Amino acid sequence: MLPHLLELLPAELVAHANAHGVALRLDEARRILVDAHAPPGQQRRRKPVARAKQAAVAELTRHDSLEVLERATDPSDGFVKYLLRGRDGDVFEAVRIPLHAPGRFSVCLSSQAGCAMRCAFCATGRLGLRRHLDAWEMVATLELLRNEAPGRVTGAVFQGQGEPLHNYDAVMKAARVLCDPCGAHVAAKAITVSTVGLVPQIRRFTAERQPYRLIASITTTQPDRRTHLLPVASRLPFDELVAALREHAEATGKLLTIAWVMMAGVNTDPAEIEGLRRAFAGVPFVLNLIDVNDARPDGFARAGEAERTAFIDGLSAAGIPFRRRYSGGAARHAACGMLAGHRAAS
Ligand code: SF4
Repeated sequence: MLPHLLELLPAELVAHANAHGVALRLDEARRILVDAHAPPGQQRRRKPVARAKQAAVAELTRHDSLEVLERATDPSDGFVKYLLRGRDGDVFEAVRIPLHAPGRFSVCLSSQAGCAMRCAFCATGRLGLRRHLDAWEMVATLELLRNEAPGRVTGAVFQGQGEPLHNYDAVMKAARVLCDPCGAHVAAKAITVSTVGLVPQIRRFTAERQPYRLIASITTTQPDRRTHLLPVASRLPFDELVAALREHAEATGKLLTIAWVMMAGVNTDPAEIEGLRRAFAGVPFVLNLIDVNDARPDGFARAGEAERTAFIDGLSAAGIPFRRRYSGGAARHAACGMLAGHRAAS
């Protein structure tokens, strides 16, 4: 299959064109790609690449695009969920997230249609894995949302449908294109990859010195709960996960971010606080606390105020730094754990 233009870096486009007998230079490849990634109507007019070469490159690359099935805005917080159809008809979401700075947005990107991890508290997990998304589909998603944003898109987080590290090569490729000067102009440090804890891929991410931020969604330290809540990720021993995260923190010298989906009566007790304290003793880390979002009547419930306060007080007493994270768009099924490829009204 021909490569999609949106997933090629300039040197790759040159190599691809040259291999097919087109004498494309690096500066020409850059100009073609800058135009390909630019919002409509903002293509450069000066020094265009010769038409014959543009036509030759067009013949050698794919240009298919995503179809927008629905845009749904949560009126309470301004989060916008996009329901998209990619190649082969698979459906997935992306979410435009308003940031604190007015007129700035981040985009939550899917990396797969569905997910193989089957986390018990996540609607995407109940879909099963349909397929990995291509790098171009992730790039095209961000650019589509960017083109419609009433301001600037300055960040991206791979936290939509799918486990990004399960689709490692395509996600890293998309991230690389997003932050390329000829790509979408998102700073590498403003790109976040969120994983449920795939140990070999975390080690690879660290060894490759990927410049993106990593968030590990741990959710429980207790082996029996891990088996139930994270049936696939928990096949890897928790000690190995902790070791991989410690290695990552040491190699990057950065604060480790651990995400924790709070569920009433499930993972807010002193055993979890002690498990966290032990696992990450001596590691600079912060715990991102997120309320569970489960739309099922018999699903996981959010911790009530008393339970949440007791957990937070326990974290403070144990010296564990935390911050509460807002996961918006719940009224449109756009919040973390709610993406299932449905229209907002259904
Ligand atoms: S929480 Fe993430 S890794 Fe787990 S099933 Fe949902 S999308 Fe997959």
